[in-house]
Amino acid sequence: MANLIDDIIRNAEQRPDAVALRHGEDATTSYPDLRDACLAFAQRLRDRGVHPGDRVLLCCPSVDAYVVAYMGVQAAGGAIVAANTMATRDELSYFLSDSGAKLAIGWHENGPSLQEACDETGTDLLVLTEYDAARPQSIDAGALADLPIDRADSDLAALLYTSGTTGKPKGTQLTVGGLSAAIDSAIVASGMEAEDRCGTALPLFHCFGQVAGMLPTLRGGGSLTLLHPLTLEGQLAMIPENGLTVMLGVPTMWMFLLYQAGEEGVGAEHFSTLKYAVSGGAPLPESIITRFEDELGVTVLEGYGLTETAAMGTFSQPGGPRKVGFVGSPVQGIELSVRDFDGRELGADEPGEVFLRGPQITAGYWNRPADTDAAISKDGWFRTGDIGLRDADGDLRIVDRVKDMIIRGGYNVYPAEVESILYQNPAVLEAAVIGVPDEKYGEEVATCVVIKPGEEVTPEDLEALCREHLSAYKVPRLISFVDQLPKGATGKTLKRGIDRAEVLKSA
Ligand code: ATP
Repeated sequence: MANLIDDIIRNAEQRPDAVALRHGEDATTSYPDLRDACLAFAQRLRDRGVHPGDRVLLCCPSVDAYVVAYMGVQAAGGAIVAANTMATRDELSYFLSDSGAKLAIGWHENGPSLQEACDETGTDLLVLTEYDAARPQSIDAGALADLPIDRADSDLAALLYTSGTTGKPKGTQLTVGGLSAAIDSAIVASGMEAEDRCGTALPLFHCFGQVAGMLPTLRGGGSLTLLHPLTLEGQLAMIPENGLTVMLGVPTMWMFLLYQAGEEGVGAEHFSTLKYAVSGGAPLPESIITRFEDELGVTVLEGYGLTETAAMGTFSQPGGPRKVGFVGSPVQGIELSVRDFDGRELGADEPGEVFLRGPQITAGYWNRPADTDAAISKDGWFRTGDIGLRDADGDLRIVDRVKDMIIRGGYNVYPAEVESILYQNPAVLEAAVIGVPDEKYGEEVATCVVIKPGEEVTPEDLEALCREHLSAYKVPRLISFVDQLPKGATGKTLKRGIDRAEVLKSA
């Protein structure tokens, strides 16, 4: 029996002076203050009628109050329903009704969507302000005597909705035991220590920031720095201001960090406290890793995982051999299998679909047994929908998503491979390679490219670069320049959000 808040309570007792939350050297929250704020919040939730087992929707940006509310819900024995702060009223109504949430917690800067969704579904709403961030509390010892609530490993701790390529979003159930295993494996994989200062601009409502960032940092006893609002300047400044030793982000964030470092003319000195940067969530082009290491002196470690695997499934070891293009080996507790489309296990260097198994894997989709059965086999293997291969050492290389693969005239084209070539042109800020319908080949390779401000490049330049490095059938025939690419919750490029008809017209 345990509760996720036990980590904060233990750190508060053992290391009362340690900093839990940090915004610069003068704005810090100690572990005892965070503990008291979370427990006081849990009591507030109980006063609002939240009982063990209840779901509580949390729609809040990455501010300290997020941590307090998240852990307060855990302490009260509830489960977080993590909502994207960009969600519309209809989406929020769906999350509330699908999860059966007892209470919704919003943030004072949010627009009216959550209030309207709560009105529509008859859900009680609690709105947080800066005042709800961690701060010293006077605790009523009597009222808190039975907090935190003891929980079983199989109890639901968090429900994270995947945005869903088809149909409605599905609630991915992460249990107390599953999250605890994921936290342990993240700590072991990254070598996180109590002295570490972890910072991220990732949203906490997404699995990456929540399960690979917030939770391991608080179990490990290090400090966590969040960023809100997310700005290019803020992301660059948070590193020296907080002496960050570890930073987490998706590839888009690293690209923008490199860009901003160039704009502000800062070099390796600015990044000198960082032991490493952790990238995940999407393919990281080789040229970005090289520039990080060569220009800024920062080692980039890659991890791979999904919401359904509670973030990290594999991770490249700090200090291990550098294998560009690989996302490391399975983390503690995770087994990896690469299979062909008939389900046969493949050998080294053979690409196939990636399957993962382990205690971290989701307990299934909330109220969706058919979807759960389609994704998780009876013996516990989770089908990722990603194509990958293992090398002879057992390290994984993600080739692409099954659903993003383009089939041009019978040949498979992996967009990630083409994108990594486009990024070799220094004028390219972002690139997304997609398939568009084509009468002759079934699908044609197209790309949308965002150029860095003030830079120039022609479609012919990019085509020539691709021709130099890629087989002819992989070279994009349609190149469209755009101002920006659609982004998902974490800032990852959302390929399904690209208007194919528009690309055909503009290229
Ligand atoms: P949603 O399911 O919500 O629509 P999503 O598919 O991006 O969005 P996530 O759980 O956020 O869901 O992301 C998981 C996916 O991200 C993986 O299936 C994989 O395609 C991709 N991914 C994660 N890490 C890496 C990585 N290091 N390299 C390449 N791709 C990655």
